[in-house]
Amino acid sequence: MPGKNLSREEAQQRAEAIGVESYRVHLDVTSAPDPAAATFRSTTTVVFRCAAPGTDTFADLLAPRVHAVTLNGRALDPAVVFDGVRVTLPGLAAHNELTVVADCAYSRTGEGLHRFVDPADDETYLYTHFEPADARRVFANFEQPDLKAPFTVSVTAPAAWDVYANAVHEEITADGAARTWRFAPTKPISTYLTAVVAGPYHVARDHYSRELPDGGVLEIPLAATCRRSLAPHFDPDEIFTVTKQGLDFFHQEFDYPYPFGKYDQCFVPEYNIGAMENPGCVTFREEYVFRSKVTEAAYEGRANVVLHEMAHMWFGDLVTMKWWDDLWLKESFADYMGSLSQNEATKYRAVWITFANRRKAWAYRQDQFPTTHPITADIRDLEDAKLNFDGITYAKGASVLKQLVAYVGREPFLAGARQYFRRHAYGNTRLADLLEALETTSGRDLTAWAAAWLQTSGVNVLTPQVTVDAEGRITELAIVQDGSVPRPHRVAVGLFDRDADGGLVRTARIELDVTGTRTVVAEAAGRPRPALVLVNDDDLTYCKVRFDEGSLETLRTSLGEIRDDLARALAWSAVWNLTRDGLMPARDYLGLVLRFGGGESDIGVLQSLHLQAKAALDLYADPAWRAAGGRLLAEGAVRELRAAEPGSDHQLAWARFVAVAADGPEQLQLVRGLLEGTARIDGLDVDQELRWTLWLALAAGGAAEGPEIERELQRDNTASGRRQLVQCLAARPTPEAKAAAWSAVVDSDELPNALVEAEIAGFAQAGRRDLTAGFTAPYFAVLEKIWEQRSIEIAMRIVGGFFPRHQTEPAVLAATDEWLDGHPAAAPALRRLVTECRDDLARALRAQECDRV
Ligand SMILES: [Zn+2]
Repeated sequence: MPGKNLSREEAQQRAEAIGVESYRVHLDVTSAPDPAAATFRSTTTVVFRCAAPGTDTFADLLAPRVHAVTLNGRALDPAVVFDGVRVTLPGLAAHNELTVVADCAYSRTGEGLHRFVDPADDETYLYTHFEPADARRVFANFEQPDLKAPFTVSVTAPAAWDVYANAVHEEITADGAARTWRFAPTKPISTYLTAVVAGPYHVARDHYSRELPDGGVLEIPLAATCRRSLAPHFDPDEIFTVTKQGLDFFHQEFDYPYPFGKYDQCFVPEYNIGAMENPGCVTFREEYVFRSKVTEAAYEGRANVVLHEMAHMWFGDLVTMKWWDDLWLKESFADYMGSLSQNEATKYRAVWITFANRRKAWAYRQDQFPTTHPITADIRDLEDAKLNFDGITYAKGASVLKQLVAYVGREPFLAGARQYFRRHAYGNTRLADLLEALETTSGRDLTAWAAAWLQTSGVNVLTPQVTVDAEGRITELAIVQDGSVPRPHRVAVGLFDRDADGGLVRTARIELDVTGTRTVVAEAAGRPRPALVLVNDDDLTYCKVRFDEGSLETLRTSLGEIRDDLARALAWSAVWNLTRDGLMPARDYLGLVLRFGGGESDIGVLQSLHLQAKAALDLYADPAWRAAGGRLLAEGAVRELRAAEPGSDHQLAWARFVAVAADGPEQLQLVRGLLEGTARIDGLDVDQELRWTLWLALAAGGAAEGPEIERELQRDNTASGRRQLVQCLAARPTPEAKAAAWSAVVDSDELPNALVEAEIAGFAQAGRRDLTAGFTAPYFAVLEKIWEQRSIEIAMRIVGGFFPRHQTEPAVLAATDEWLDGHPAAAPALRRLVTECRDDLARALRAQECDRV
């Protein structure tokens, strides 16, 4: 619909024309528990100035019905001024008051005001999610980040409910079966940051206080909520511990008191993303409330998200990007500061390992797509914005900030941040504003740095070249830099040799600046040739690391012997990149995982290895070898499961991997035995989440019937259980199961976001490619219709999820090219998604070529 996809130009013009003074928003959600009620009443009054009286502008609103529009006391006819997405506002005065009364729709896609009914107890829960531009699904507004204003929100809800919003509530009044919650005005914030959470949520409370340098005391009430039926699994103390550690850290480093009063953290159902930094009312996906045993990596990951969102209270909420081009200004910083604070203020010790291994893998992948973009992006409109919550904006941006800290130093970097907050509090910024602050505090001209790192795209490849003399001493060690644009890199080069126990230990660490295409590491000359040269030791910069032939040979025989956890994680990351790039056969990579995975002490790295090994087998292995490779992987997984320490995280990870890799009757028999209690692994608790993982293995392996999987609901009739049941049913290797999953998603828009995801995940299970092959043509036929008719969140999932990525055949690549060639005018965001899928497929074909013997 025209107008829905707000463009940057329109936003610029509107920001020049008007300035918003305040919003009053009232929502009446008393109808929410009635499943027949599709809408709720929304009333907005916005007061705004206009720089050019007499001109027109528009407000944004996605609503099925508008009852009344009143501008400066004048009633406007909704049939004339409202087109479904915009309210035209003609003939503005210098000072304006607009009131819009509308019926807005409850959402089932996680966009806008999402409504969820808990199957465990039939309770109804609501929450909002707005980024980048879905506040307009809930109330009329000027939906762009640089039109900030204070919001005064009130909500009428069923009397038994609690309501949370950005500010504290000032008053609750009861009226029969309803209560109205009136919240204090917020500080000036952007529309996408407003939030309401309402329902019979379980809540835990705590408190944070801190003495401020001026002698005052900052008091921050803390709350953590989840659905009632999840309360037995909730561990708010752990959340509060990390929250307080983070608040200590950010106050210490940012020297700017937390500006938004209280700090609620709400864990909500069917959430599309990890979390959202709504000031004072952060929302998280409730999968972070762990129902069963999870590994330490999961706790680490959750704590990282808590801290990422907290960093946003300053980077993003207090100071906000002007437009989505500078989305990185908040996301890259939150990502980097989240990890920095976690490493320095919490008990988690593997933070930078996870960052190097997992976070950067996301960035490297994204940055090699033909659709990659500079960190400071060119965002023409909202659809562009939606797609840029990606590996560049988050992980590459954060990696580049880590490199910046190595370049200018930690203190000047944080001093720059402090200056930036003070100067731009409650305002909007662009790249230049941040650079100015950083240049002042670091005393360095960052123009060249920013041009190289923020305004160009692509990843550099750093390769060591070693020459030695007859005595085996290094005559020259040089680092060769490839990539579209050579960049200045601050790197450490690690030299490793064997110790008495055969371990590979660092014997030298040389830090230097790599510039241009070839840099000589002068300090290395004259040293004995090491067993391993690791460029980017300590992971200071963002690059793909290669090896000289001798080092690669060392890794083949001894990767697992590298004693330093971070260095070993970097080596794993590098051999994965070699595999993806078609430079190391997939079977060699699988061999490394089978040989050294069992000894990997870092649980996060091990879980990455599991994911990557499965992907290597499914996508990058020669199809002629895939069955043999699958057998090796499955047998290896069972071997490691039996060898793992009883009750350990490693044991749980291997148990899950057995389910993922299960390949033949033997493993499926073990899986069924674990489910039925006839097989036991000492120390392994087959709890509810693991049960579902095992069921999925049986379903996908054609070793379980629908009715017996459905019976699992008798144990676990929860939202999570239902979702996993749907995934299991869609994973069954029958034409009927695949057709049903496809149809449930494509032919109807009834399913909520969470079940769309479950159907797709089950459908796209890697085994039995013959059963999904027939969906390639229908996929391309339906793409444009899906993009037009579905919300962007759902459309993105369908486009990415149903792409025939396991049909790794030249014919599918050709079909993809044919679609791209034949649809030059398709929405750019849709073309971007398909182009990325195409690139993954082409990469798989190249890697398979490398694996062919
Ligand atoms: Zn973020």
